Amino acid sequence: MTAQLIDGKGIAKTIQAELTQEVAELREKYGLVPGLATVLVGENPASQTYVRMKRKRCAEVGIHTIGPVLPKDATQEEVEALVRELNANPAIHGILVQLPLPSHLHEEAVLNAISLEKDVDGFHPVNIGRLAMKHRTPLFAPCTPSGIIELLDRTGVSIEGQEAVVLGRSNIVGLPVSMLLLKRNATVTICHSRTRDLPAITRRADILVAAVGRAEMVKADWVKPGAVVIDVGINRVDDPTRKRGYRLVGDVDFAEVQEVAGWITPVPGGVGPMTIAMLLRNTIIGAKRAAGIEGGRIES
Ligand code: NDP
Repeated sequence: MTAQLIDGKGIAKTIQAELTQEVAELREKYGLVPGLATVLVGENPASQTYVRMKRKRCAEVGIHTIGPVLPKDATQEEVEALVRELNANPAIHGILVQLPLPSHLHEEAVLNAISLEKDVDGFHPVNIGRLAMKHRTPLFAPCTPSGIIELLDRTGVSIEGQEAVVLGRSNIVGLPVSMLLLKRNATVTICHSRTRDLPAITRRADILVAAVGRAEMVKADWVKPGAVVIDVGINRVDDPTRKRGYRLVGDVDFAEVQEVAGWITPVPGGVGPMTIAMLLRNTIIGAKRAAGIEGGRIES
């Protein structure tokens, strides 16, 4: 059996086209232009690239962006003052503080300073708390986890009642995607570095999400035949045949696992493109909510 590919890149493109249409309608009907602020502290090249990509995608769909940059030795007070200024700016509906912050800064305090209504990354503790509670809905769900749910939905995978196993329990991927799967009535098992006999647990999964950051860790005999495998990992492995000297692989051994799985995401081109698509969507939700327009809420 060879798994069918879940084309994250194609799905993200479709979503981007839908959002472009929606932004045009908001502008026409209400004169509303969604706005996103990306906050960068320091000159981390990877962070600069991520911010550039996010702003480029925003421009493509018609979302206005500003990109304040603070020096790498900015103080806690300076960063929080900038966040407060953006909280008060009515043209800005989403604030994204690019992580990681330089180590002298208190990350949680900065994330706490972002207005709940503008927390488009969904990392504010109150939004995470609402995500964890039954019958509560966060104002925004984190982007990579909601991108995973969107991939499953648009592939026609049913979630309710399925055995879902999530490898990884990080605040940005493993834990929130587990909570989203639970909200959708999957039976969820969360694994981590102290879990015993991982393959025995992953073999139970109808839906397997791998978010560990370990190159090609998930092998064919870890996967139940026909399972849906979502590979979040982005890992560099040396490859002298490539011009840049490395290639990107996921947490799943794609060549092996595609022979067993029913559906599988590639790396790159699977989960990655969905993260930015969900950021765009969250920014539009924030703008609609601020303007009191219907649709300014996320579905639980
Ligand atoms: P973290 O390092 O924060 O978390 C990794 C998790 O995996 C931890 O819970 C850890 O367990 C667990 N883990 C690590 N090694 C093992 C192991 N050998 N066996 C079982 N569990 C293990 O990573 P992130 O969640 O931030 O990211 C995970 C991967 O996803 C990375 O490759 C990252 O690059 C990628 N990523 C991709 C995104 C995208 O848009 N596609 C977005 C964000 C991340 P413990 O808690 O016990 O330490």
